[in-house]
Parts: sequence; structure tokens; C-alpha cells
Amino acid sequence: MLIGVLALQGTFIEHYNTLNKLKETDPDMDVILVKNKSELMSVDGLIIPGGESTTIRKLLTIFDLLEPLKKRIEEKMPIYGTCAGLILLAKTIISEESCLNAIDITVRRNAFGSQISSFKTEMLIKEFSDEPIELVFIRAPWIENVGSKVKVIATYQGKIIAARENNVLVTSFHPEFTDNLSVHKYFVNMVKKTLTK
Ligand code: GLN
Repeated sequence: MLIGVLALQGTFIEHYNTLNKLKETDPDMDVILVKNKSELMSVDGLIIPGGESTTIRKLLTIFDLLEPLKKRIEEKMPIYGTCAGLILLAKTIISEESCLNAIDITVRRNAFGSQISSFKTEMLIKEFSDEPIELVFIRAPWIENVGSKVKVIATYQGKIIAARENNVLVTSFHPEFTDNLSVHKYFVNMVKKTLTK
């Protein structure tokens, strides 16, 4: 099983390191950074990191990855977007055109405030872990609406911060900035399940 991290801009090294920590206890798993089409075609699941969604969006086009990525998502490759990655996967981005249109959510960018309003908190999210996990929000979006097929995984102060629709998982926080592996583990299990179907 090969898990890729889209490595155009943003927190890809942090995701790569987190997945490599998981790999220590999961010998079936390998991890690569994805920067071109052949790498994209080789992975069984992909993480889109946090960063700057407008920059990642431009780079996806420049590196000819946008259409191949859309196609892989349509073909049900599991994909997980954190923060900027969530924005890029959303069907609707308030005041902007959508990018990958992969999950039926409406997203507001920078909804939790600007860089100086970035914050950490702890929360119990049963879907991911039986213990509370640390959540890091950096210029984070929230999800304002979800379609009927979307499962809401977590809310914080009444705002949706984690959701899933079939093969697409999104969180507006950054587990890659913490020592907790449970969200990545959840995603790796999503990938495993598609491979054993
Ligand atoms: N505010 C950023 C954007 O709109 C996302 C921030 C992040 O990924 N931490 O792209």
C-alpha cells in the first residue's frame, strides 16, 4: 500500500513525517511525496496538505496535475485534505470558484480568523480516537453546509471542522503538527479498506 502526500506547497513534510511514524508499526505501508503525474498514478491514497489553497491550486495547473487528480478522485482513490486541502476538495467555496469539487460541502476560507487568531485546543472526536486529541487551527476554514451524503465527524463551537463523503475526508485542523497519529491512522484504514474490497 502506497500513500502519497501532494508536495507542491504547504505542510507536506509534516504529513510525510507523520505517515512515516505510522509506517514503523505498519510494514504494509509505504509513503511518497507526489510532485508529478506518474507519482500521482502510483499511489493508493493521497493527502493534500495545509498551506495556501490559492498557491496549491495554481501549482496543480502548472504541473498538469489538476485533471489527473480529479480523475483519480472520481475513480474513488481515498483522499484526505487538511485546511487548504479541505478548501481545494470542497464543492463550494464562498466567493470563489471551486477546484476539485470532490465533497459536497460549502466552505468559508479563513473563517476562524487570520494568522494571529490561530489557536490550539483539545477535543474528543470519537470517529478518530477514544482519547481527546490536540487540534491546531491556522487561518482555518470552517464548513458552513454539508450535502445529505456527507457525514459530519466533528464540530467546534457549532462549526463543522471534520467531515467525510465516501472516499473523501477533510479536516479544517492540522493533525500533522501534533504527535497524535489517530487521524492519519483513520485515513490509512480508509485506503486499506478500498484495497481489500
Ligand atoms: N487560509 C488558508 C487558505 O485559504 C488555509 C490555511 C491553512 O492551510 N492552514 O488557503
